[in-house]
Amino acid sequence: MTKIDLHPVRNNPDLPDFFKTHLLKRIEEHGGNYGIAWKLITRYREGRYCLARKSGGRLCLFSAKVPGDGPRGRCGWHGGTGRSGPKTAGGKKRIGDAQRLRWARYRQENDINGTDN
Ligand SMILES: [Zn+2]
Repeated sequence: MTKIDLHPVRNNPDLPDFFKTHLLKRIEEHGGNYGIAWKLITRYREGRYCLARKSGGRLCLFSAKVPGDGPRGRCGWHGGTGRSGPKTAGGKKRIGDAQRLRWARYRQENDINGTDN
């Protein structure tokens, strides 16, 4: 009988590195059982993670309140709750620009390289 490799990380080479690390840690926590990792990959593919960038450069892995990149596609810590905030495309662009500017200023002040991760 041929043995099929069902390891979730080896079978999903397209996943980003931080998420692979996350999966390997979960697998280790479950005593080497990787069934859980397949579920987490499904969650990831469905966009059910927050993925906001935290200070320190890591991404938030809490559940988004509402899946996807929509207005509530963040966890409760990162703006996923509540009904206030910009509704129109113009308003969203304004807060997005302001937030990018804040991050740029923060990086400059702390002498952090602004490239991804
Ligand atoms: Zn979050």
